[in-house]
Amino acid sequence: MKQYDAIVIGAGISGLSLASYAAQAGLATLVIEKSDRVGGCFHSHRFQREAAGFWLELGAHTCYNSYGGLIGLMEHYGLMASILPREKVSFRMLIGNQVRSITSQLSFAELLSSAWRLFTLKKEGESVASYYGRIVGRGNYQRVFAPAFNAVLSQRADDFPADMLFNKRPRRKDVIKHFTMKGGLETIVDTICADPALNLVTGAQVSRIAKSGERFVVELADGRSFESGRLALAVPPPEASRLSQEIAPELSRALAPIRMETIETVGLAVLKERLKLPPLAGIIPADDHFYSAVSRDSVPHASYRGFSFHFKSGRLPLEGKLKRIAEVLEVGQEELVQVVQRESRLPSPVVGHGAVTAEIDRGIASSKLFVTGNYFAGMAVEDCIVRSRKEFARLSEGL
Ligand SMILES: Cc1cc2nc3c(=O)[nH]c(=O)nc-3n(C[C@H](O)[C@H](O)[C@H](O)COP(=O)(O)OP(=O)(O)OC[C@H]3O[C@@H](n4cnc5c(N)ncnc54)[C@H](O)[C@@H]3O)c2cc1C
Repeated sequence: MKQYDAIVIGAGISGLSLASYAAQAGLATLVIEKSDRVGGCFHSHRFQREAAGFWLELGAHTCYNSYGGLIGLMEHYGLMASILPREKVSFRMLIGNQVRSITSQLSFAELLSSAWRLFTLKKEGESVASYYGRIVGRGNYQRVFAPAFNAVLSQRADDFPADMLFNKRPRRKDVIKHFTMKGGLETIVDTICADPALNLVTGAQVSRIAKSGERFVVELADGRSFESGRLALAVPPPEASRLSQEIAPELSRALAPIRMETIETVGLAVLKERLKLPPLAGIIPADDHFYSAVSRDSVPHASYRGFSFHFKSGRLPLEGKLKRIAEVLEVGQEELVQVVQRESRLPSPVVGHGAVTAEIDRGIASSKLFVTGNYFAGMAVEDCIVRSRKEFARLSEGL
């Protein structure tokens, strides 16, 4: 059985950042990923044939200069020269079949009479609906902000804890405010995975995790097994709950109630000259089968424009989705080229989630088991890295 100092299960940004820190500290580190591709929600689809060279984000699309942990990793891997600025294009709203500016849907009178609460209201213990509803006014919230937050979170945002959205962090003034990468954000995870100090197994189904004395034994469905002194779970809560059943039942129980939302994404390219739609960052529907359509217009291409439509789960089959996309983009369905699909899953925490994460932390305290992911500080990329850094501080104790 192959021995490691640390095993990380899950090769999304949470697992890869933690694995990178462990490898940088000199630990023999193995990452085990279920899928054949790494990156999880970092998924930059690269088009083929006539659209070769064009790429589109099917998951995370924007990073900010407040993502200090991510930028630190990018510096470590020599990626700063590959940063691409994003063009200043705006999100627009979709009202029925009409694309409208966001400001056209806002009541400024309501905004002015409510905004003072920004200085008195606390986010703690409030939901997105209760907190922002009071700050922007109920009407503005229903018409504009609720759809916008649904788009940000790719799920119904009303019950989401307000203090898990938009975490304030210092900005790196020497870095562009919001950015992507040459080849898309997946360039970051591909580069981490190419680190010779990291060992990676993909397409691997973990069938069981057991303990052998103080060490962890990870068994794969194909019969391979690996042993390590430290184990990190960087997979969605239901998988982390299942994997920890035998080795940490309390942790497993703490993870079990966290609900997940499935997002059905359809990505596609359209020849530029076929579209009348002005350049935009994306489309936020007031009420539709999709949460958002994120465009590639922020990184213009000579011939193509691209869109990722993030659909609500179980609503429409692919034909229905393509019909709706063609209506929204005002083109024939035959203009939607190289259609690609992806399914993402995101946690759906609710107010009181802090008690759940506290229970998770109690379940792993003073053990060599670590848990990271997008359900601690928040769901943004940097929230994942903040959690991984916290877990790495524990993991590296005594090194
Ligand atoms: C559509 C969309 C748009 C987004 N846009 C942004 C954005 O613009 N900016 C931003 O900051 N954030 C954005 N986010 C959020 C952010 O991308 C994610 O929260 C973050 O990337 C999650 O990383 P993770 O590693 O925690 O989880 P994931 O990316 O979900 O990775 C988990 C990994 O674990 C693997 N796995 C699962 N089960 C097992 C198992 N049993 N064994 C082994 N491996 C397993 C999965 O295959 C996956 O690779 C977006 C998310 C989505 C879905």
